[in-house]
Amino acid sequence: MSYDDQNIFAKILRGEIPCDKVYEDDHALAFNDIAPQAPVHVLVIPKGPYVSMADFSANGSDAEIAGFFRAVGTVARQLGLDEPGYRTIANHGRDAHQEVPHLHVHIFGGRSMRGMIPKPKPENG
Ligand code: AMP
Repeated sequence: MSYDDQNIFAKILRGEIPCDKVYEDDHALAFNDIAPQAPVHVLVIPKGPYVSMADFSANGSDAEIAGFFRAVGTVARQLGLDEPGYRTIANHGRDAHQEVPHLHVHIFGGRSMRGMIPKPKPENG
């Protein structure tokens, strides 16, 4: 699981590509998803080069992990989502259809979200 430093979120972190930033601290950057799937759809990414949750949880330092997850909660709170509620998702790998190989936590909010995950298609279970 090697990190590709040409992935789009690495370019955003380096300032080579713009983003619609909503939050930044020493450990994390948060920005609006370019193709929102809810009224609020924000991505929170760690500043270090981690492919996914599998990589980060195994190789991130305690400070990076604590700082990142505190940032996820802070972003949601600052977006006013603590009271109505929100959903977080972090896709890892093929089965989860991870598209960008830099860890990102999606924060979805602003509407009721029934159903935990999509139902399986009959042909592939
Ligand atoms: P995932 O399938 O979990 O890897 O999700 C990748 C997400 O990144 C998708 O929701 C995309 O809409 C989003 N995305 C891709 N490129 C950008 C970008 N340049 N700025 C903001 N969001 C992006």
